[in-house]
Amino acid sequence: MRFTVRSRGDHDSNMISQRIKNYLLEFSLEFDPESPDIVISVGGDGTLLEAFHEYTHRLSETAFVGVHTGHLGFYADWQPEEVEKLVIHIAKTPFKVVEYPVLEVIIRHNGERKSERFLALNECTVKSMEGSLVMDLEIKGDLFETFRGDGLCISTPSGSTAYNKALGGAILHPSLSTIQIAEMASINNRVYRTVGSPLVLPQHHTCLLKPKNNVDFQVTIDHLTLLQQEVKSIQYRVAEEKVRFARFRPFPFWKRVKESFIAE
Ligand code: NAP
Repeated sequence: MRFTVRSRGDHDSNMISQRIKNYLLEFSLEFDPESPDIVISVGGDGTLLEAFHEYTHRLSETAFVGVHTGHLGFYADWQPEEVEKLVIHIAKTPFKVVEYPVLEVIIRHNGERKSERFLALNECTVKSMEGSLVMDLEIKGDLFETFRGDGLCISTPSGSTAYNKALGGAILHPSLSTIQIAEMASINNRVYRTVGSPLVLPQHHTCLLKPKNNVDFQVTIDHLTLLQQEVKSIQYRVAEEKVRFARFRPFPFWKRVKESFIAE
């Protein structure tokens, strides 16, 4: 089996990454950052997001597992003290894999420029750089509302505990094949009106944003920021691809939610 290790880059994460690499080489696994079967991310949830984006071209052949060197994460749920146990689990392949949905984002531009396609593990946000953003929001081809405000966040169920949560979105179990739309400071008065609540769309529903004013805005895809101009539309739906996590022990999602946000 081929593996790679992705470190956050700080001293502790680098040391633990090196230990994991040495152990797995001793077990005669092949170190192969080009085409790994398993990617071990060492750092935090942010490190796993980076690893995910490095391997979006081969998601069906790659499984991810995360070790945290800061606090318990949603993707990074193994502790540094458990590294030996984790390595033995990995060496004793085949391991169990759970698959969760990811978000497909297609940005279409005015003029000749080709459309761009992205996958997000957490979310895609659209935020104004200055002034209010005005966008038509269509669901399944029908105009739902005209949004005016700071921006919108379209998240995966796995990302529902991240930015989405800070916007008052619901926490969704990551196994649900849905996308969630949450507002950022919408203007609601006699002239402008939005639904005001987060919306959860099923797998077969597409959401389309169409900018209505000429305000420059930024699009984020997880930790990545893209400055966008001349955008005709941004389309969102549950992607065909899925993210695969290697599971070596049960760690129920709601337990993780409790330990992260309420109490250990
Ligand atoms: P960052 O600003 O350095 O860290 C954002 C925080 O979000 C970190 O504590 C990170 O955990 C945590 N996080 C990432 N994915 C998560 C998930 N699925 N559930 C719960 N927490 C999660 O940015 P980053 O490390 O590059 O991560 C990018 C992510 O930051 C974006 O995808 C977005 O979700 C999130 N973000 C949140 C807000 C907000 O809540 N107001 C604002 C901007 C961005 P670790 O410490 O374990 O890495």
